[in-house]
Amino acid sequence: MDAMEKIVSLCKRRGFIFPSSEIYGGLNGAWDYGPLGVELKRNLKQAWWDDMVAHHDETATPPGAPQPFGMVGLDSALLMNPKVWEASGHVGGFSDPMVDDRETRARYRADQLAVYALEFIGSDGKLERYDEVLFAAPGELGKSTPAELFEPHRKRVASLQKSKPGREARPVAVPGALQDEALRARVLAPGASAPGTLTAPRAFNLMFKTHVGALEDNQSVTYLRPETAQGIFVNFKNVTDTARVRVPFGIGQIGKAFRNEINPRNFTFRSREFEQMEIEFFCRAGEAAQWYQFWRERRFQWYLDLGIRPDKLRIRDHDKDELAHYSVATCDVEYEYPFGWGELEGIACRTDFDLKRHSEASGVRLEYFDPDTKEHYTPFVIEPAGGIDRMALTFLIDAYAEEEVEGETRVVLRLHPRIAPITVGVFPLVKKDGMPELAHGLEEELRELGFTTFYDEKAAIGRRYRRQDEVGTPWCVTIDGETPKDGTVTVRERDSMQQVRVPLREVGAHLREAQRTWRKG
Ligand code: ATP
Repeated sequence: MDAMEKIVSLCKRRGFIFPSSEIYGGLNGAWDYGPLGVELKRNLKQAWWDDMVAHHDETATPPGAPQPFGMVGLDSALLMNPKVWEASGHVGGFSDPMVDDRETRARYRADQLAVYALEFIGSDGKLERYDEVLFAAPGELGKSTPAELFEPHRKRVASLQKSKPGREARPVAVPGALQDEALRARVLAPGASAPGTLTAPRAFNLMFKTHVGALEDNQSVTYLRPETAQGIFVNFKNVTDTARVRVPFGIGQIGKAFRNEINPRNFTFRSREFEQMEIEFFCRAGEAAQWYQFWRERRFQWYLDLGIRPDKLRIRDHDKDELAHYSVATCDVEYEYPFGWGELEGIACRTDFDLKRHSEASGVRLEYFDPDTKEHYTPFVIEPAGGIDRMALTFLIDAYAEEEVEGETRVVLRLHPRIAPITVGVFPLVKKDGMPELAHGLEEELRELGFTTFYDEKAAIGRRYRRQDEVGTPWCVTIDGETPKDGTVTVRERDSMQQVRVPLREVGAHLREAQRTWRKG
């Protein structure tokens, strides 16, 4: 099993993530979170909300910030007046060019389909090119490995390779092959029997259309929101009129978003229904560059603070030609997934584009009035936007480890205690001598202190520990024969597997301290 398969299998086996409507064969791009998955997701949302919005201190200047700032929250409706999506440019422009395979009926995003010719290189350095047939494969030249790109055409590549003994095949890009009719006729698609089955790239709108009310006519069309951001922009006036916020300030929102992705894949990484956590941060145009830097660093650090391994995380600045038309600077916080580097969160300076567009389209002035300078102006916007499903997947991948312990393989999720679905397992060593009663009492006490607990009295103690390791429970507390005598229990730590004896009355305080000082081992 490769690394991704192991995560998918663990998620299924232990109740983190299931395919949606599985008993009917599932639905591509939709996922359900099971008893443990829902806790992980809730903890992630809570951590983000607390750190970014609820616990924000608007009188302090956080490291790297030019000055103190305000933060408030919002929960806007998923269905909105369709004019929102016309003004934002989504109705006209929220589309990816895609190609269809007329033979296999598969659909691909044109920018995610690599088209390549073959080059055979010998030890003498001489090159021989083969481009009679061009090959198309999901991936990106330069990013995907040759083996990944060859995969859908294994047999053909192997037979061509056979005819060039001593030379090694490598893929070389054929730019514009999907756009050019003559070249396209030579492209062999994955799973197709002959070249020339792909259509030219066509725009494909990613928004799910629906109808509001009883009549299914053009008047009743609206869309499931493809991002939470627009709900914030259209509420700009409501918030500034009521919340007594002053620029610079941010509005945070967590909520579902829907995109009819052409090619949902890599488990939950690219889904059709997902949740986003977005901040629209409003500032003066002249200060936007400084605030952009601040949010770039702050969001990157947030992942490190929650335990993501630093060597797996990077910031990638977008090149000028990658930028959305409204953006002057964008970067992605990227993680190195088993399938390569991918975007985890995007941070963009959206200028005053959105507020101005909605002002023009609605006729309502979305401006800020500065009470000190008596000036009306449209603020600039910095937007850190991340997806919770992608985040949950990233934390699971990053936390997953297999270790040899006493001749057996131990699977352990080294999740930060703040996000682990269960914080503490409580076990009686055996089901007698008053141990279950003491364990229940302790569990209740820990629950009252705000810990998520799990009581287990089945199977040998070693097996119970392993079951908790596998779902990332940072601590297990065992009541044993000593407890009634000296009032102490065993606290076992997940990562080091070390056990210490702690007075029963001090377990809560011990765990609090351990949580505060936790570092990924
Ligand atoms: P991508 O390039 O991967 O399609 P994007 O740049 O379109 O993503 P944004 O519009 O910036 O994504 O959305 C912000 C965040 O929402 C992303 O960083 C990602 O975490 C999440 N997200 C976007 N699309 C999806 C999806 N289809 N499935 C899961 N999460 C998603």
